[in-house]
Amino acid sequence: MDDVNDKKTALVTGANKGIGFAIARGLGAIGFTVAVGARDTARRDEAVDRLRADGIDAFGVALDVTSDDSVAVAAKTVEQTAGRLDVLVNNAGIAGSSDGGAQNPSTLDLDVVRTVLDTNVFGVVRVTNAMLPLLRRAESPRIVNISSNMGSLTLQTGPQLAAYATSKSMLNSITAQYARELAGTNVIVNAACPGYVATDFTGFNSPRTPEQGAAIAITLATLPDDGPRGGFFDDGGVVPW
Ligand code: NAP
Repeated sequence: MDDVNDKKTALVTGANKGIGFAIARGLGAIGFTVAVGARDTARRDEAVDRLRADGIDAFGVALDVTSDDSVAVAAKTVEQTAGRLDVLVNNAGIAGSSDGGAQNPSTLDLDVVRTVLDTNVFGVVRVTNAMLPLLRRAESPRIVNISSNMGSLTLQTGPQLAAYATSKSMLNSITAQYARELAGTNVIVNAACPGYVATDFTGFNSPRTPEQGAAIAITLATLPDDGPRGGFFDDGGVVPW
């Protein structure tokens, strides 16, 4: 094998800012080539430039997780550039509007639910299924789905957001489904909760940094072959479903 094939590649969706950017930088810092998945060209190019300025091997992947066509092209881009995929981090996510009680169960706006599911759940399925053939070419492929403890039916924590929280419950469930299907393979799938992190998502209203939020995803992206499968983890360990 030459050097190019020895180098592992990680695709992070929504990698242009926030926790996704921190995951990309963290994986790049430990030697991964980082495929920066982002839907906006200018924001994607800027993120790639910032990573390269930090000495990280990065390339941009045009990727809107709500578009089948965009996801198919993204898979081709990764295949042509890297030949295979070692790590997929499904990070792209949205909270959805909560204006006028749109996410209170009793006044739930089903269009908001559809929009949030399309990104946070269907987007993960689209990207995962498009990338799985490339992941299967890797020696120790890992998939990390960025969830939230707001999706935990046990904890029922955080503000009441009936589109967002339920999308993360479903993401947890689909993570377990993937892990069951892939149980007999080398593809390890888990969900991660980054904690409450200062990003655009939270109005930067937290002392917790994106780097701190990224740490659990990086751990799960680099699990050994006998690592846990089909679980839900944060910095403190297992998060109850
Ligand atoms: P953020 O700063 O708002 O970043 C979200 C990222 O997702 C952006 O890069 C955004 O791209 C991208 N994205 C949204 N829709 C997309 C689409 N259709 N296609 C491709 N990319 C898309 O939020 P964050 O706090 O880093 O959140 C990242 C993940 O962590 C999310 O899944 C979120 O649910 C989860 N999380 C966050 C917290 C927290 O406290 N921040 C807590 C628990 C879980 P654009 O720049 O183009 O919009």
